[in-house]
Amino acid sequence: MNRGLLIVISGPSGVGKGTVIGMLMKNDKNVGYSVSSTTRLPREGEIDGVHYDFITAKQFKSDIENDRMLEYTVYCDNYYGTNADKVERLRAEGKDVILEIETQGAANIKRKCPDAVTVFIAPPTFDDLKKRLSGRGTEPPQVIEKRVRKAREELEKSDMYEYVVINDDAVRAADDLCAIIRAERIKKNNKFIF
Ligand code: 5GP
Repeated sequence: MNRGLLIVISGPSGVGKGTVIGMLMKNDKNVGYSVSSTTRLPREGEIDGVHYDFITAKQFKSDIENDRMLEYTVYCDNYYGTNADKVERLRAEGKDVILEIETQGAANIKRKCPDAVTVFIAPPTFDDLKKRLSGRGTEPPQVIEKRVRKAREELEKSDMYEYVVINDDAVRAADDLCAIIRAERIKKNNKFIF
């Protein structure tokens, strides 16, 4: 069995990464999602173990000390990290694993796993993103302001990614992502042997 791909997806808060990844996973059953751990509180509707493993800072620090994190970062005052075992298990089963992580984490993964495929999901314009973030209504204004600043920093790093997908239409963006994964599978797995 072929080992699965590692697909790293980043994009600023509010760009619609969750929607695009959800559509991709509906269409492509070989894709598995690695649920991250975080110390931030769940938003309304978020389920522990589905959207994130919501853990305490004490637990998170212990996971770091015990080398259980493939990468981790502090983002807007909270820890976020990728569980190394989960990723390895899925890839060994032949599943292509999606990590939805911020730019620093993506750079760390690329250093540790050079075969990772990196994709940045961008909004059509910065103004469009600002509108989406303020309209979401899930965070207080100070948090939104912080996330807008962070979004600008992240957009500046989009050129370190192998692919940029513009999310002006979620269906088309998910389709682009599907095409990238198909092409990467072909590149990695199809070899002609005499
Ligand atoms: P949110 O609080 O909006 O769910 O996530 C904030 C940021 O943390 C997003 O950019 C998201 O991609 C990133 N993130 C989520 N999980 C991880 C992770 O495991 N590692 C890293 N480095 N970033 C993560």
